[in-house]
Amino acid sequence: MYTDHAMSCTFCKIIDGKIPSTAVYQDDLGYAFADVNPQAPVHVLIVPREHIGSLAEADQSQRDLLGHLLLAAADIARKKGLGNGYRIVVNTGEEGGQTVDHIHLHLLGGRPMTWPPG
Ligand code: AMP
Ligand code: ZN
Repeated sequence: MYTDHAMSCTFCKIIDGKIPSTAVYQDDLGYAFADVNPQAPVHVLIVPREHIGSLAEADQSQRDLLGHLLLAAADIARKKGLGNGYRIVVNTGEEGGQTVDHIHLHLLGGRPMTWPPG
């Protein structure tokens, strides 16, 4: 039984194993995998198993889920040895640079980050 998202969304397909990925972490609520085009020595994407289009589409019913994913990202950072710091990015919408319409946290680390971002 597939939803429309499961058939059309890249990250839903990754979660379903229809597109291969390198798993970093998973639990009942989320899945984390290596970004295919890494922008830093560590570049992991953390996504909810539930399809949410973007942060702009999230609501209060997803508060615990989003908090869970943020803490999962911190846990992955710890396990990856990013004790000197890292960056979490949630690109949102067209001007935010979002290219995959399934909410995701980028975990970037292993090099100094600059500010402002591009
Ligand atoms: P964003 O531009 O914030 O929407 O981020 C989308 C990210 O997904 C980019 O960093 C892409 O490199 C990454 N990406 C797209 N397709 C795949 C894939 N099949 N496996 C892993 N990462 C992907
Ligand atoms: Zn999706």
